[in-house]
Amino acid sequence: MKITFFGVRGSIPSPGYDTYRYGGNTSCIHIETASGQDLVLDAGTGIRKLGKRLVEKNNTINLLLSHGHWDHIQGYPFFLPIYQPDRKIRVYTGATKGHEQICSLFDQIDGANFPVKATELPSQSECITANVETELARQNISVRRIPINHPGGGFGYRIEEDGTSCAYITDNELEPPDKVATTYDQWVAFCHGVDVLIHDAQYLEADMPHKHGWGHSLVSQVRQLAVDAEVRCLAMFHHDPDRTDTEIDFIQKENELFFQGKHAPSISLCAAENMQIKLTAQLDKPTVIEIDRAGP
Ligand SMILES: [Zn+2]
Ligand SMILES: [Zn+2]
Repeated sequence: MKITFFGVRGSIPSPGYDTYRYGGNTSCIHIETASGQDLVLDAGTGIRKLGKRLVEKNNTINLLLSHGHWDHIQGYPFFLPIYQPDRKIRVYTGATKGHEQICSLFDQIDGANFPVKATELPSQSECITANVETELARQNISVRRIPINHPGGGFGYRIEEDGTSCAYITDNELEPPDKVATTYDQWVAFCHGVDVLIHDAQYLEADMPHKHGWGHSLVSQVRQLAVDAEVRCLAMFHHDPDRTDTEIDFIQKENELFFQGKHAPSISLCAAENMQIKLTAQLDKPTVIEIDRAGP
C-alpha cells in the first residue's frame, strides 16, 4: 500500500512562512492499496488537493472519518469527486452526538453554511454508521477500529493488506485525566507490530497542565507507545497549528536521540504534506518500508 499525507495539521489550517515545509492543511491521508482501492482517512482541508487527483478515476472511494470536528471535515465541500455524476463515495463514521449518529461531512453542506445542499450533489454518497468493519470487509478492505480518548468520541483505525499494516490514530489522548475509552495497554495491543503508526502528537510538556483533557497526546507519550508496541515506522501527526517548521525539526532530532539503541521503531518521522510511505509485502520477511519525503 501507498500512504500519502495531504494534511498533517491539527485544529485549524495554518498556512504561513513558518509552517510551509510541513504544511498547514488539516487532516487528510490517502491510502492506495496494492489491489488498487482508494481509501481516504479524514476530510480536513488537505482533501481538496487529493480530490484533484481522484477525479481522474471513477472507482468507489472509501472514506474513513475519525470524528466530526471541523479540522477533519472542512475540506469535504471542496472534494471534487462529490460533484462527479454517479461517483460512488462511501463514508464510514461512527461518531455520535448525544445519542444520535451524525455524519457531519454532509450536515455542513446545507445551503446555509455552504452554497450547495448535500441533497443536490450528483455523486452517489453514502454514510455508513453501523457495522463499519463488516461493511469494509465487503469491499475487500480489512480494517479494525477502536474508540479514541477525545471530547465527543470517535475512532482510530488499523488497516491490513496482505501482511502490510497501517494504524491511523488521531485526536487521541493516550493518558486522559478522566473518562478513558481505551487504556494505554489496549493501545499497545492494538498497535502492536504495525508497519506504520500514524499518531496524534500535538502537545509538548510546556502545553501542560492547561491542555490536559483536550484530547491530544504529548510527543513523549507517543514515542513511548512506538517503543512499547514495537511499531516499525512512527509518523507523528496532527501538529499543533502554532508549531513552526523549526520546532518540528527539533522534535524530529529529539526523536532520533530517544530511539537510538532501542529495538523499535526503526524509522521515525514527523509527517509532512506530500510525504509518501510505500509498504511492500515480502513472503516470510518483514514488509519493506520506503519513505519518499518529496512525494509522488
Ligand atoms: Zn483534530
Ligand atoms: Zn478533534
